[in-house]
Amino acid sequence: MQMPEPDQAAIAARPRLLEGLRRIVPADSVIADDASLGAFESDGLTAYRQRPLATVLPETVDQVAAILKLCQDLGIKVVPRGAGTSLSGGALPLADGLLLGMAKFNRVLDIDLENRCAVVQPGVTNLGVTQAVQDLGYYYAPDPSSQIACTIGGNVAENSGGVHCLKYGLTTNNILGVELVLMTGEVLRLGGRHLDAGGLDLMGLVCGSEGLLGVITEVTVRILPKPQSQAALLLAFDAVEAAGACVARVIGAGIVPAGMEMMDRPAIHAAEDFVHAGYPRDAEALLIVELDGPEEEVAESIAEVEAIARTCGATSARVSGSEEERLAFWAGRKAAFPAVGRISPDYYCMDGTIPRARLSEVLTRMNEMSARYGLRVANVFHAGDGNLHPLILYDANAPGELERAEAFGAEILTLCVEVGGVLTGEHGVGVEKRDLMGTMFDAGDLAHQERMKCAFDPDHRLNPGKMFPELHRCAELGRMHIHRGQMPFPDIPRF
Ligand SMILES: Cc1cc2nc3c(=O)[nH]c(=O)nc-3n(C[C@H](O)[C@H](O)[C@H](O)COP(=O)(O)OP(=O)(O)OC[C@H]3O[C@@H](n4cnc5c(N)ncnc54)[C@H](O)[C@@H]3O)c2cc1C
Repeated sequence: MQMPEPDQAAIAARPRLLEGLRRIVPADSVIADDASLGAFESDGLTAYRQRPLATVLPETVDQVAAILKLCQDLGIKVVPRGAGTSLSGGALPLADGLLLGMAKFNRVLDIDLENRCAVVQPGVTNLGVTQAVQDLGYYYAPDPSSQIACTIGGNVAENSGGVHCLKYGLTTNNILGVELVLMTGEVLRLGGRHLDAGGLDLMGLVCGSEGLLGVITEVTVRILPKPQSQAALLLAFDAVEAAGACVARVIGAGIVPAGMEMMDRPAIHAAEDFVHAGYPRDAEALLIVELDGPEEEVAESIAEVEAIARTCGATSARVSGSEEERLAFWAGRKAAFPAVGRISPDYYCMDGTIPRARLSEVLTRMNEMSARYGLRVANVFHAGDGNLHPLILYDANAPGELERAEAFGAEILTLCVEVGGVLTGEHGVGVEKRDLMGTMFDAGDLAHQERMKCAFDPDHRLNPGKMFPELHRCAELGRMHIHRGQMPFPDIPRF
């Protein structure tokens, strides 16, 4: 993976940057010594590291605006950062850029039950939103497994998902408003406490923009009343193909589980060894299916899912008998990533999405690749959404293993696109999938996306080197093609 050549003029401007930052925020909010910058040198994609020119931790919108304006004037790039849990390298610093940490924006500003929403600063953790409203009987639905650490700002930037997004939608379906600061220091407010607004859906564009368009300084999130009851079903299968077929049949039967997650044998064993969730060790695949809603409806749906699972060859089916047991079923799944971290020095977490009906075929082809690359793979994923998270196990200290893991990962993602899926379900493109964007989008598609970027950040100062495989000057993208002296749309006034 290559990043754009660092701009020597920006590096030379570092003393002026530090001086300017110290005029905007208190001195202890500017981190510039090499040892302290080490804490920010990577995000959740730890294979890549880079120390930034400096890190700044503002705490007001005015400070963010002044910092961005300063960087724009000095020609310095900016990488926004929430908690740094991105698995696609979205918050990877740049050698010639400032890292803008939003950790101090950590307050819940308002809880508005009449409008079923909460207004929060971007540095509030995902779980922090639910914790702020749970005593009132509410919760925030999208629940990434990283929810104790990741921030709402990062969730919006990555359009994050989680176990419950099958029924309740991704971040984009659960936010109502966003405040955004542009590189010029201008503050935009998109959406609000209401449903759809007129005009172009800029909020839809900002959600999933991976820090390339502006810095999010406030988010209005939807909150939902807690469901009346919840129950989970633990289904074991002796073949991943059978579990895959069960997923497709449950959804095909019109049932919409609150969550439907799959783990394969290596993941089951890692999780069981770590949290002792009570998972059957002899299973080749495990499905956790959660249903929520009124008690009778939940009981009926559980019986229906169990019956479908039996026809698909489930070898065992356990229904959670209590809240403790339901949480125990989830404990293994939620701890699966750290659990896999115990059985391998390093792992590389992929994130592709496929049509559900192709699940068993893709899992089989991944096992063939695993043998070919000589690297083990553990699968833990949002089966209901077809969102795969193969964890490729490797050892960064073994020569060539990182490169093999990267090539294996790229082949998995290419396969996802080949079967009609997409490169990312929820972790974003970042640097990780940047060079694969061409497998999904043609040059015209990418140019249109870059034109949107140019409308917000014409000088490419915000998070460059992420998402787009090639950087184009904005003027180049807007170039007019004159064919045989004929100007297109001659009736439009030119200037
Ligand atoms: C163990 C583990 C489990 C995970 N499970 C899930 C999961 O189930 N579902 C899922 O979707 N993700 C998951 N992730 C990935 C990650 O947690 C999410 O992408 C999360 O949304 C990142 O939030 P963050 O605050 O850490 O953002 P960061 O990692 O700091 O940044 C992520 C991106 O957002 C941008 N950004 C951050 N804050 C702002 C802001 N205020 N304004 C503008 N841009 C900003 C950054 O520039 C970067 O491009 C997991 C990660 C780990 C380590």
